[in-house]
Amino acid sequence: MAQVITRFAPSPTGHLHIGGARTALYSYLWAKHNHGKFLLRIEDTDQARYHPEAEASIYEGLRWLGIDWEEPVIKQSTRTHEYRQQAETLVKRGTAYYCFCTPERLELMRQIQRTKGRAPKYDKTCLRLTNAELQHKLDQHESYVIRLNVPDSGTITIDDAVRGRIEFACSELDDQILLKSDGFPTYHLANVVDDHASNITHVIRGEEWIPSTPKHVLLYQACGWTPPVFAHLSLFIKKGGGKLSKREGATGLLEYKSLGYLPQAVVNFIALLGWNPKTSQEIFSLAELIQAFDLQHINHANPIFDTEKLDWFNGQYIRQLPLAELITYCQPYLPAAPIDYISQIVALEQDRLKKFSDITANSTFFFTDQLTYEANLLLWKKTTAANTAHYLQLLLEQLQQLTTWQATNLEHTIITWIQQHQLHNGDILWPWRVALTGVKASPPPFAVAAILGKDRTLARVQQAINLLSSYYEMDHTS
Ligand code: GLU
Repeated sequence: MAQVITRFAPSPTGHLHIGGARTALYSYLWAKHNHGKFLLRIEDTDQARYHPEAEASIYEGLRWLGIDWEEPVIKQSTRTHEYRQQAETLVKRGTAYYCFCTPERLELMRQIQRTKGRAPKYDKTCLRLTNAELQHKLDQHESYVIRLNVPDSGTITIDDAVRGRIEFACSELDDQILLKSDGFPTYHLANVVDDHASNITHVIRGEEWIPSTPKHVLLYQACGWTPPVFAHLSLFIKKGGGKLSKREGATGLLEYKSLGYLPQAVVNFIALLGWNPKTSQEIFSLAELIQAFDLQHINHANPIFDTEKLDWFNGQYIRQLPLAELITYCQPYLPAAPIDYISQIVALEQDRLKKFSDITANSTFFFTDQLTYEANLLLWKKTTAANTAHYLQLLLEQLQQLTTWQATNLEHTIITWIQQHQLHNGDILWPWRVALTGVKASPPPFAVAAILGKDRTLARVQQAINLLSSYYEMDHTS
């Protein structure tokens, strides 16, 4: 087999999204699995829709994921001449032709076709021009496009590596415009010319390009070239069904970066969104993916995009990070504070983070001296406010006596004391934790107290007692 060469060919019209990243990843994995090459081509012939930030997001996004391409990047806007030349060659061969029809004529033609109940399709009027008529129009500098001359009958068959055989009747295909009146190529022409010029062996892309594929195959035939293998990936759907809209959640790849996802987790997650390794292994490094990836086990069914699963992967990778690295990742999401303080908080949160940005909300109570929460959050199950205040008062006395202020020691002392006095863990630990954090879910009170220090811990327990007493006084008077 010839050396495998794949490419990712995004149009820089919008930010690289996660679906595009998966297409790039699969193309990259397939090339690397076969010790081949992976190319990057920017399909920027549509200058009106070109956005420089979109192009920048493609480079940044792929680099972030660790997907590297062969230099140089191919930019279609620099190759207009090649496309034009190929279109002219096809005209000379008779597999393409000039079309001078005005937009008004085309619109009228379509209206008539519609009223007759037929699908709109170019009627090949200009194919019937005599040489003299054609020359006259060219001499008059009439504006024209170049169209592919699609045969009226016959079938185009595609053996898609993911979907198997797909057939299209030529009679259903329009005489595709290859070169526009401004001299720029359409996507179809530029795409095929470049895939051929780069010796692409496998075109891996989203299923939305399936309707274009028979046109591409016809173009390959018209040019006398062999088409590559096509593999069309099924698009993601939402959990519960339906199309994933761009507005839903963070679909821009780099938004995942800003939210605090690790590229390894994103790569691992998207690799399994549509490809089945046929083992129970879930955690794959990029190198392991290169080793294991194959086109055969790409699923035909639409993969479900499940953010919870992405969070799970990210959590797995976060747990593996050395603390120093984790601190660097978390710092942008935390207020400025001494590094020693930050590092204790980060270490405490490591097992609970789904993404780095979670640390902001998870650790608010470490960065404020003004905890506000509802008094009834302090109540454990059916325990009354008066009893809770009493338990906290007992706890306060215990804590005051403590000289070694450190998590394991706090835990040991308080648990022993609870047991000796036959108290319930919940009656002490629940209100204590709420008193320190003001929230329903947080790490255990020992760890939090150790980081807060003795003074702040005692002050917060006292604040809770005060809050409870005004609460039950109010209760009694009402
Ligand atoms: N420029 C097309 C896109 O934006 C390329 C499709 C293909 O891979 O052929 O997806």
